[in-house]
Amino acid sequence: MKTQKQNIILDSINYLKIFLPLHKEFNTFKHIGQAISNPLKVSYISQGKINGIAENTGVKIGNRPTDEQRNKYFTATSIEKLLKKLFVVKTSDESKKMYDVVNNIDDYLKQNLEYKYFVDTDVSGFYSNEPENYNGSCMAGKPESYFKLYDYINDCSRNNVSVKIVGFKSKDIILARGLLWCKTYRDALGGITAKAYFLDRIYIHNKLQNSSFAKLQFELYQTIRKFYKVDLLRAYNKTQIESHILNKYNNTEKFIFKCKFCRPSFAVNVEGYEDKINHYPYMDTFRYIDESEVLSIDEADANKILDQTDGHYTEAEKHCCDECGDYIDVDNSVYSELDDQTLCLDCSVYIDERGEHANRSNTYYNDYSGSYHHEDDLSRA
Ligand SMILES: [Zn+2]
Repeated sequence: MKTQKQNIILDSINYLKIFLPLHKEFNTFKHIGQAISNPLKVSYISQGKINGIAENTGVKIGNRPTDEQRNKYFTATSIEKLLKKLFVVKTSDESKKMYDVVNNIDDYLKQNLEYKYFVDTDVSGFYSNEPENYNGSCMAGKPESYFKLYDYINDCSRNNVSVKIVGFKSKDIILARGLLWCKTYRDALGGITAKAYFLDRIYIHNKLQNSSFAKLQFELYQTIRKFYKVDLLRAYNKTQIESHILNKYNNTEKFIFKCKFCRPSFAVNVEGYEDKINHYPYMDTFRYIDESEVLSIDEADANKILDQTDGHYTEAEKHCCDECGDYIDVDNSVYSELDDQTLCLDCSVYIDERGEHANRSNTYYNDYSGSYHHEDDLSRA
């Protein structure tokens, strides 16, 4: 199988030789093939390097380099960069020919990927070791301290909630990954009565976002259902997963969708977190912490919103009523342009004849007509 893969890459390069002038160093690039460390790339070794290795270490790289040699000595690069080293591209015609081959080989490498399911329970370690900007996640490669909240959740046994990273890997390359949350329910004696799972947003490697985005999400979803033996699995990417099924299978009548919901069924107790946590991650789903130290999807009573990528959080916007001084939610507050005040619902009234709100204490009520009037609008006749 492997030799076949490499032939396709070499065949494409040979095909380009018909149309494009060769770079003067063309013949020094040896053993071009799919990269071992990153199967989305190609790798090669220069004749100079082969000679150098033989001189310095006595290792001879022969006609069929081993996987170990390819991994250790070869240079991995994108097919685009390699072709630019092999050929001299001047005209737009030549450029088009080259990019046709770049696209074909890229597609080929993507379609022939072999990947494995993985689970990583060290969430903070995983995130902080990720290369930046490879999957569109704004948290990849950030400092480990930003992710301590995940460790805190896993270490706190009272909440009965665990969170881990799940995904697909091809060699060392992460193709897809997401957070899997699990809440364990117990009876009075501590015996497990039920488990609820939530598969958070799935991030896909940039190279695969156009071609295999929905497919990888669906496969990861199905893999987790099998792995943890869950029938109904709530998932952030419910819409994409279901539309993949609709595209893939013509007869969806007998297909039972196993997602149903895109939000989790439980919240997470993070009691005492403020003593231990100094930085916060950006979170896709569980992003609101309220005063009773519960992390949830519920915005209503939140005082922290975990929507920042720099280790900070957003302070939930709370207004103070300018009349009575009570704290009020944004949803339950009214701004009166007339009185230039933010007011709670108790302290404001709607003045029909003006079509706007006012501070109740600045208004008069007309018992005869049943309407409010602003004091500025009234004068003795
Ligand atoms: Zn008020």
